[in-house]
Amino acid sequence: MEALGRHILVEFYNCSPELMNDVVHIEKSMVEAAETAGATVINSTFHHFSPYGVSGVVVIQESHLAIHTWPEFGYAAVDLFTCGDSVNPWVSYQFLEKAFKASHGSSMECRRGQMGLLDRKDFNVDALRNVGAKPYDHPVKFTRDVWFTERDENIALSLKHDGQLYKKESPYQKVEVFATQAYGNMLTLDGMVMCTQKDEYVYHEMITHVPMLSHGRVKRALVIGGGDGGTVRELLRHPELEEVVLVEIDALVIEACKLHLPETAVAFDHPKLKLLIEDGIKYIQECADSAFDLIIVDSADPVGPGEGLFTAEFYKEVYRCLTEDGIMVTQSESPRFNANVFAEIYDCYRGIFGADKVSCYLAAIPTYPTGTWSFSFSSKGNAQPLVFDRETAAAFSRKNDLKYYNEDIHAAAFALPNFVKQLLKLK
Ligand code: SAM
Repeated sequence: MEALGRHILVEFYNCSPELMNDVVHIEKSMVEAAETAGATVINSTFHHFSPYGVSGVVVIQESHLAIHTWPEFGYAAVDLFTCGDSVNPWVSYQFLEKAFKASHGSSMECRRGQMGLLDRKDFNVDALRNVGAKPYDHPVKFTRDVWFTERDENIALSLKHDGQLYKKESPYQKVEVFATQAYGNMLTLDGMVMCTQKDEYVYHEMITHVPMLSHGRVKRALVIGGGDGGTVRELLRHPELEEVVLVEIDALVIEACKLHLPETAVAFDHPKLKLLIEDGIKYIQECADSAFDLIIVDSADPVGPGEGLFTAEFYKEVYRCLTEDGIMVTQSESPRFNANVFAEIYDCYRGIFGADKVSCYLAAIPTYPTGTWSFSFSSKGNAQPLVFDRETAAAFSRKNDLKYYNEDIHAAAFALPNFVKQLLKLK
């Protein structure tokens, strides 16, 4: 053996961008490529980056296989490093070229640890053994660390998960559900976290109970978006409500949540709920004047199908469809994560509802970028967010065993830190 190891640097070209972004397929292919070459897999760690790209390594008894993908170029850079003679890394090369549907690849093999350049050291193996590893017990076949990562150019949130439970492309977006270890099942749309089983209640309790208990007499409510079902679940806790209309553009979101976030999707068959699979922008344009006491815009971020839900045209229609003392509540992004969008949409709300009719309130949502999220409260009439019956709010929170909302957090949520007041040009 004239060298300790063989290291093949591989470039795979013209692979399908979808495959280059499919972390499950890539991990499975890398592990099988190792095993097909006769290697013993010890561990695999893979990261799926948002908006796209995958990095991962498979540690084998005979060294490692590693990969980084650029789906936007249909390109993968792969390292095949094996030591000893029992494993032929070229077998892994051929396996991966097929698995990634590469039109062609280029490669360079380097001999690592040329024996002629190495001097064997005399050392006490037992001493080494005792220094190093704690006894390693119960290795399963091999441990897996698969991470979902949502990131922009500066900020990233990574969640370890045990696999993808759901993945379908709708005409509007990629709908996925991951079984995260820390936050339970998690719904993502186009790689952005929408809700997780462990913290969805924060968002859903705050986007509903604040306006419901401020208004106090909501009979008809409209929810635009909200296909995970959490917002209508919370609204339908209020017995005075006569009808809730949910307008969700993407039926696959509802399907994914019924399957994998059942406690969020629990109210879809409620008798007071009218569920419409429709574009909320078209629905509000065709909606009658003064039709709703409360309109909640439970949209995703201002991209893709949700972009039109962050426009003055849309909010003007919402205003028209509210009753004289109606309220509009929206998820208004993060004052930290996207300060510009945040400040701009409040200018827009104030332009339509009036400067003194628009308020902002905050909540801590761990799996949303920066963890600081905001909601807007815009009154067509005289409803004031801080004018509410504290006793009624306290009793409602207790009776429904709410996990976030109560009369104190209702009031406190509107106490804004100075940097948010500055963004909103408030004194
Ligand atoms: N809590 C999440 C957030 O803050 O990012 C939002 C959750 S909810 C899942 C967002 C929903 O809005 C998605 O199901 C999406 O399909 C829906 N949606 C996006 N654009 C829409 C439109 N134009 N009309 C109706 N629903 C829309």
